[in-house]
Amino acid sequence: MSGAGSAPAGEAHAPGARGPEGTIPLAVPNIGELERRYVLEAVESGFVSSVGPFVSEFERRFAERVGAKHAVACASGTAAIHIGLLLLGVGRGDDVVCSDFTFVGSVNPIAYCGARPVLVDAETTTWNIDPALLAAELDRRAVAGEAQPRAVEIVHVLGQPADMEPLMDACERHGIPVLEDAAESLGATWTAGRYAGRHTGTVGRIGCFSFNGNKIATTGGGGMLVTDDDDLAARARHLTTQAKVPDVGYLHDEVGYNYRLTNIAAGLGLAQLERLDDFVGAKHRIAARYDEAFADLPLVLPPRVEGLGATYWLYSVLVPETDGRGRDEFLDHLNGLGVGARALWRPLHAQPPFLTAPVLGGAVGDGLFARGLSLPCATELTDADQDRVIAAVRSFFA
Ligand SMILES: *Cc1c(COP(=O)(O)O)cnc(C)c1O
Repeated sequence: MSGAGSAPAGEAHAPGARGPEGTIPLAVPNIGELERRYVLEAVESGFVSSVGPFVSEFERRFAERVGAKHAVACASGTAAIHIGLLLLGVGRGDDVVCSDFTFVGSVNPIAYCGARPVLVDAETTTWNIDPALLAAELDRRAVAGEAQPRAVEIVHVLGQPADMEPLMDACERHGIPVLEDAAESLGATWTAGRYAGRHTGTVGRIGCFSFNGNKIATTGGGGMLVTDDDDLAARARHLTTQAKVPDVGYLHDEVGYNYRLTNIAAGLGLAQLERLDDFVGAKHRIAARYDEAFADLPLVLPPRVEGLGATYWLYSVLVPETDGRGRDEFLDHLNGLGVGARALWRPLHAQPPFLTAPVLGGAVGDGLFARGLSLPCATELTDADQDRVIAAVRSFFA
């Protein structure tokens, strides 16, 4: 299933390819024969734009796969979140709670709406938004008579589901709708408790996914909004297609967006969806192999939490606090040995556009950024290449 032979030379995201110096890439798309077939079919059918059979078929199959009633295909994960927030009524002057430790694509749509993000730190067990901090903030606002956030955005980072029960309890207690940013967690499920068997993105009122090139399944660029609410789904479809009303005279009943996925991209997505179980299986295999190889090292390994079934979209580790050396030394060491390791995100409270946003806590996210990096975990990573990564990691501690 490797397209390495036809990959453009030096292309960082070329499937299965090595970087210029033979570097093992962090993560690259897995594009094969099925993808080629569906994309070609889309091109040859003439339906290259947002109208076409693959778009609705992709939506139908995606909804079925994650167990949602509706799925609306969008041009990106960021666009899906933007539409999701609009559906929840987020507007100018509102507060929206968001995980502090996440990719900036989670929070930018809050700013697009003219709303103010309220950043809540991660917890150390899941690296996701801290349920105790969130509950304390919502309870405090209720007691103080302050306005509650218009919505709470819960991100499942790195393929790790959040501890959803206490988060939902807090939001439901105060009547605040939840939007799940499941951009990184396609294929992840809760495996015990109230949400056992449910896929990330289907517990909150709205769930959003991304099919960017680095995600577990890709459409080149794309996203999906899922919901069980008929009216929200209809409105999402309306808003993503320029709010066009059926009428001969180009009637648009509000300000809409050109946010619909194209038929070509949907063809790619359909093929990826058919292979998703293999991708998730590969991520699990890679993670289990790393876990075993690093068990005796002083590294902090990715969260393994009973009941929260992660996909290990990225396999991320932390340099121990007790180590005199930091993440940069670790990164330099690995990169120098041809291992395409990469730092975790700078928390949002430290990003220039959000320096003035209120933040609750922040030290956990700071610690993840200061000490964390991700190791190569492309679904096509060979055992031999993984052994090279393992040897490189072990030699740092030798
Ligand atoms: C990738 C990502 C997004 C944005 O998705 P795009 O498809 O790149 O717009 C949003 N949130 C998180 C957590 C992501 O990883």
